[in-house]
Amino acid sequence: LAKRNGGNRFCFHDAAAARAASERLELGHALRAAREQGELALLFQPIVALPGGQLLGAEALLRWDHPSRGRLAPDQFIGVAEANGTIVDIGAWVIAEACRCAVRWNALASMPLRVSVNVSARQFVMNDVAQTVREALAATGCAAGWLTVEITESLLLEDSFPVRRSLEDLSRMGVAIAIDDFGTGYSSMSYLGKFPIDMLKIDRSFVRDVDGDAKMRALVKAIVSVAGALSLEVVAEGIETQAQADTLVELGCGKAQGYLFGRPMPGASFSESLELAMH
Ligand code: C2E
Ligand code: MG
Ligand code: MG
Ligand code: MG
Repeated sequence: LAKRNGGNRFCFHDAAAARAASERLELGHALRAAREQGELALLFQPIVALPGGQLLGAEALLRWDHPSRGRLAPDQFIGVAEANGTIVDIGAWVIAEACRCAVRWNALASMPLRVSVNVSARQFVMNDVAQTVREALAATGCAAGWLTVEITESLLLEDSFPVRRSLEDLSRMGVAIAIDDFGTGYSSMSYLGKFPIDMLKIDRSFVRDVDGDAKMRALVKAIVSVAGALSLEVVAEGIETQAQADTLVELGCGKAQGYLFGRPMPGASFSESLELAMH
């Protein structure tokens, strides 16, 4: 009997796994059509100067308005998009859409505004990202200096030639390169000397307790110091409270992003707040 129950339990797990797999497959199929059907949307979250809060730009964050499931966050579908290759097409759309917005906003602003896009390691492997960016800049009239590409430490781990060439191409064009979620990956940090990096984004996990935890404060201070020594810009992510912001100012962090300064918002809302700020 015990054996039979064991067997049943296996069956249950198999069924659950099969259901999950077929759900992913279905999601993958729907994703192929999502871009053409206008179901993808970008939200923009402000990036500001510390202290003072002057607007410097925004990070583009992808959403999928799934016809039956509602609005999905990237962690619910980026993995599927990477697995079935649709990430290449989606990524090209994200880059072009971010460029279109950068052009619109820089026509309104008196200071250059920069738009960041997230590009996953799979995109670099499957696609010539520098070429995709070049085409988007040409098609939209976006200046290279208005665009930042956010990558993760894991991309730089293997130090592959195509990845290096893509990053060097982007850098030569004048597109800035930021390390996203800095400090959370496997980081030997030696890559900072080998790749054309412009900016470090300190992960939210460091920021969360920065005002209360002396060790977190010491770590953030060390990251800011590394950035300073290498002339890199540094942005703190996920700032939710004034106490966190005050501590980051104290530690010399020059830029910030988080709910305290603005939630991710539709491009039209971003334009509106920009117009208000300009009047
Ligand atoms: P990320 O690049 O580190 O983006 C920051 C994430 O933190 C965003 O989640 C943002 O909404 C959230 N966030 C910002 N400020 C706060 C805060 O003060 N508190 C809290 N609790 N959260 C905050 P989101 O939009 O769900 O994006 C998650 C991740 O998905 C991103 O992490 C990025 O790695 C990836 N992603 C987003 N858009 C794209 C895209 O177009 N392409 C690719 N390949 N990945 C993307
Ligand atoms: Mg990012
Ligand atoms: Mg990040
Ligand atoms: Mg993150």
